Amino acid sequence: MEWLGLQLFAGLPSTGQIILDCRHNPYLVLLAFAVACAACFATLDMAERQSHCEDRLARRQWRILGACCLAGGIWAMHFISMLAFQAPLEIHYDVPLTGLSLLIALLAAWLAMDSLDRGEMRLHHYLRTALFIGLGIGLMHYTGMAALQTTARQYYQGELLLASLAIAVATSLVALLLAGHFRQGGGTLNLMMKCGASLLMAGGIIFTHFTGMAAMTLVIPSETALRLTSGDNSLQLALTIAFITLLISGSSISAALADKKLQSKEHDLRRVNVLLSQLDQARASLQQAAHYDALTNLVNRRGFNQVFAERLAEQAGSQGMLAVMFLDIDHFKRINDSLGHAAGDELLKVIAGHIKAATRGLDLVARFGGDEFCIVTTLNSRDEARHLAQRIMQRMKEPIDLGGRRMVMTTSIGISIYPDDGTSAEELLKHADLALYQSKGCGRNSLNFFNSGLKTRATLELQLEEELRVALFEERGLRVHYQPIFDLRSGRVAKLEALVRWEHPQHGLLGPDRFIGIAEANGLITELDLWVLRRACEDLARLNRLGHGGLKVTVNCSALTLGREELATEVEMALFQAGLSPLQLELEVTENALMGDIQHTISLLKRIRAQGVALSIDDFGTGYSSLAYLKRLPLDVLKVDRSFVQDVPASQKDREIVQAIIIMAHTLHLKVVTEGVETQEQREFLAAHGCDYLQGYLLSRPVPFAELRAVLQRLDRQACELSPCADTALPGSPDLFADNPGYHASASIARRGH
Ligand code: C2E
Ligand code: MG
Ligand code: MG
Repeated sequence: MEWLGLQLFAGLPSTGQIILDCRHNPYLVLLAFAVACAACFATLDMAERQSHCEDRLARRQWRILGACCLAGGIWAMHFISMLAFQAPLEIHYDVPLTGLSLLIALLAAWLAMDSLDRGEMRLHHYLRTALFIGLGIGLMHYTGMAALQTTARQYYQGELLLASLAIAVATSLVALLLAGHFRQGGGTLNLMMKCGASLLMAGGIIFTHFTGMAAMTLVIPSETALRLTSGDNSLQLALTIAFITLLISGSSISAALADKKLQSKEHDLRRVNVLLSQLDQARASLQQAAHYDALTNLVNRRGFNQVFAERLAEQAGSQGMLAVMFLDIDHFKRINDSLGHAAGDELLKVIAGHIKAATRGLDLVARFGGDEFCIVTTLNSRDEARHLAQRIMQRMKEPIDLGGRRMVMTTSIGISIYPDDGTSAEELLKHADLALYQSKGCGRNSLNFFNSGLKTRATLELQLEEELRVALFEERGLRVHYQPIFDLRSGRVAKLEALVRWEHPQHGLLGPDRFIGIAEANGLITELDLWVLRRACEDLARLNRLGHGGLKVTVNCSALTLGREELATEVEMALFQAGLSPLQLELEVTENALMGDIQHTISLLKRIRAQGVALSIDDFGTGYSSLAYLKRLPLDVLKVDRSFVQDVPASQKDREIVQAIIIMAHTLHLKVVTEGVETQEQREFLAAHGCDYLQGYLLSRPVPFAELRAVLQRLDRQACELSPCADTALPGSPDLFADNPGYHASASIARRGH
């Protein structure tokens, strides 16, 4: 086969002489190898740069430079090797063909660089590309050989020619794999491996060339005379080409190095910028967290203090007026206890929105935590503050859908005015808080302005708190009164409710309403409850010894006391110390106390009940109980709150409610006690509707232990006198409580009420 004058795969002609004296200048061969090495190293560098560039244009530039380096290197190696070739012939080079060979080298190199730019290369990609590049190199070589113009004809041995092509393809494959590998990574090891790879690649290219040369036999016509070549400019030309190629490769390597450094600096700079912006973000979110409430997005106490101080300073300068309003959602705790904290949070968000909507844009609205909100507004008269507070209260009454229920919330508000009620932030907040306390104290859902009387009252309460602490720890002044609970079926007193009193040195006998709240607020309530429990057990044991056996004592237990893990042990201890049977004790807990951590409550109540102590739910109907919970709680008795009985039998609604509660309680296998029974009509109604026990002034008011025996004896006497009726709940016995002074007193109160 003849191609561009080359006899490929052809046998040698029968005539002509074979030139055997063909040699290569070893120095130039070495130079060719060095050039190839430098070019390969530069190409690997360019490939690495290309893969690290994000900018498309820059990538393209690195690709062009890489292709030039590789093509220039291969071509220069080929050309220098050709110049190293020495034969007894006159050798010229055909310029267009030489240029074409350079073009082919460029094409193959471009293909190599382009394939290296691909994100992910599979083996078949590598193989295909290596085949194209290898054939390209081969083509370049043989086109370069065709450019050689001598009197001799070139004959190529088929096997070696194919071997040269195979070596070119294999070299390309190795080069591609290595270049792909060196795209990532850095450091000295990478550099050394890159040097090794360059040597390998250059070796491969040189090997391709010399295998191609080995495949060639030069044959000149028989009559042609051989001539000795002398004084040609091969060395000079080779050195020039080598110099240019090395210069290009060297510059490219330097450019790559500089770019690498620049990119790493840019990278560092970018990282610093990212870190700085992350720092800024963190600072901003810290600022947000420090000054804003995450739930409602309102400012928190810290943010409020800051802005409030600024507002005060402004007003001080302009002689203006400010109102500070403290807001508290009425009975919010019940929502948390009964519907859970998630529902409570949801409600707070809605309420925050309501408050925001009712205020002006410039007003400062803050959430201090829990259900406590604070507003600061500028105004010209007190009335403006009142109107704003009324607007908020009105807005608050809008029904809110929560967990499938429609809730109507109310709010209590306390207001203090700058500069009338104080000039410092602390003073104004304290006074607004006192006014709020007043609002809560007078039935909630109301607003109050601060006045100096409140301060006196607060001081008094503080004093009361201190005195209560002393009274409790020194066991001085606290008393337990007992109120009988009457069994409608047996017609006898079955239980006594222990109710705490405080014999105050100045204020006289104080009822629990005066100090239970204080005890609950400062945590004294647990001590108080346990003290009442111990005293009640001791008193009942004493009563047993005095011949009034078979009675039970019921002791009130606050939510805080119920939250204590030790309660079961404390109850056991109190019973043990008094020598009382657990069957004679009943604990009363309110609905709301039960609704907290229901799992914990159930397990604690079960432990107490396992001892034999009975459990009752107090003030039923006033809290937020869920029937689902009620069903799961280990209860024995349900005490219907006084508020449902006071208008019975006059109010049909109340009559129906009481009937429904009795039926429901019996369905849940609970006995029913009705509290606050003051009239005979109420008693008759309750007896007729299956109520089990009565408690109220109709029987007896709560009395001190000293008077208790007399009351019990009176009630027993009355029961004995009426014994024929005692077993049948006595609906029509008007004289039963006729000589009870408490009954007359409350009956007259009831009449006055009408
Ligand atoms: P409670 O447990 O529901 O007790 C019944 C309250 O109703 C008692 O008020 C009692 O005097 C009153 N009462 C009974 N019958 C009538 C009646 O016919 N008419 C009227 N108007 N009232 C009646 P008291 O003694 O003032 O106690 C009020 C609340 O204080 C109790 O309500 C209970 O919740 C709490 N309490 C009393 N002692 C203790 C205690 O030792 N510990 C705790 N945690 N709370 C206690
Ligand atoms: Mg009670
Ligand atoms: Mg009660």
